[in-house]
Amino acid sequence: MSFRVMMLSGDESNRIILKPTFYFAVLAIAAIEVSYLVYRYLIRPRNKMSTAPQELIISSKLYIDIPPNKVPIIYSPGYDISFLGMEKMHPFDSAKWGRVCQFLIIGGGLAKDGIVEPREASKEDLLVVHTELYLKSLRNSANVARIIEVPPVAVFPNCLLQQKVLSPFRKQVGGTILAAKLAKHRSWAINIGGGFHHCSREKGGGFCAYADISLCIHYAFVLLDISSVMIIDLDAHQGNGHEMDFSNDDRVYILDMYNPDIYPFDFEARRYINHRVEVVSGTTTEQYLAKLNTALNEVAETPNFKPQLVIYNAGTDILDGDPLGRLKVSPCGVINRDEMVFQFAHERNIPIVMLTSVVKNIQLQKHTGPAHFRCHRVPQP
Ligand SMILES: [Zn+2]
Repeated sequence: MSFRVMMLSGDESNRIILKPTFYFAVLAIAAIEVSYLVYRYLIRPRNKMSTAPQELIISSKLYIDIPPNKVPIIYSPGYDISFLGMEKMHPFDSAKWGRVCQFLIIGGGLAKDGIVEPREASKEDLLVVHTELYLKSLRNSANVARIIEVPPVAVFPNCLLQQKVLSPFRKQVGGTILAAKLAKHRSWAINIGGGFHHCSREKGGGFCAYADISLCIHYAFVLLDISSVMIIDLDAHQGNGHEMDFSNDDRVYILDMYNPDIYPFDFEARRYINHRVEVVSGTTTEQYLAKLNTALNEVAETPNFKPQLVIYNAGTDILDGDPLGRLKVSPCGVINRDEMVFQFAHERNIPIVMLTSVVKNIQLQKHTGPAHFRCHRVPQP
């Protein structure tokens, strides 16, 4: 059509523009656009995930008994993803979790057999939040390649991806779910993994294939007698997965502090953040910590604010030099940030679960890993 218009003389094009049908066409297109926006933001029912299938949760085997001699730190060698050099194809460090654990053992004086090893989440466990359709979509290697952002993986047999990529993720999901039980009994717990905050019930992305935060919260609602949860998401990226999952659930309060200049640009999910703090590229340590301090104080003053569990997504991609986060927070600043969040929870006697989130920088964990352990080895209540 554009070619046809180009071939017309100026007078002829003017005649077309002046015809009523032209305006009808423009109006029709505008009406379609507007009705889509109305449907998307006003009419479409929000996510109906708030009622989790209790039977699946009650019959789950993920809440294992933990002997008292174990520390509330969760990790399994099965977390690490390493095959055919895939870890070198991705900006994220897919074998970082084991190295963090090594730092804790060497620098933090943690006994290897003192760490809690979780079970892998089964299909039934995942169905508490995910749809059958979504889980089925992970049997398509091209879809897995899209989610983990490694295009060559699309040609790999799916059975290989299930074993080498998705199974480690499922093990980390098991760790996140178990962490809530440990935190409830010990006042805090750290999963050296998990924090897949870009994955929602029906959609994965950004290296996040399973919605471990949403799953953890639904298990806590059913098995831990918890009815209100606060998510503190301090990864540099917006946590659009859990935001979509709890879009219509008043039991979950979300504080998200993220860089709006980077992935995922999910403007719909931003509508469901209860307390939104945007930190633009180049934000320094002092600016970052001041904003966090203000946000935590404001949240604490919210009327009827009484969460019974805090899920803290502690992404270290806020570190100065991280190519994905684009912020300028120093290693000490990251440790101060974590201490502020733990202090916030401890002062209010709220059990806290910390997740290491999807981050790249292993150098930072060399500093923060042992520090986390020292900082958070708090007296039992
Ligand atoms: Zn991130």
